[in-house]
Amino acid sequence: MLGVTLGGVIWTLMGLLLMVFLWKVGIAMLRAFTTPLPPPPPAGEMRRVSLRYRCDVCGVELRLTMAPDEDPPPPRHCLEDMTVVAPTFE
Ligand SMILES: [Zn+2]
Repeated sequence: MLGVTLGGVIWTLMGLLLMVFLWKVGIAMLRAFTTPLPPPPPAGEMRRVSLRYRCDVCGVELRLTMAPDEDPPPPRHCLEDMTVVAPTFE
């Protein structure tokens, strides 16, 4: 006998697994804290728009106020492209 029991080996392995698990969780948490947020787009590249869209399926309407260009692709709702109701000029 070397003084190592099967139970001792199992506990050691479980301890190692727990350490690896905690280590990975720690790294993941560290990454979550240190990963910088994506920078906002430069103000000059966003256009102030005022478009109203309506979903033909369920009737919901929304207003788009900012877009990367003046003729943005319509948003989708109910798996369909929303239709432009009217540009609002305010
Ligand atoms: Zn809809």
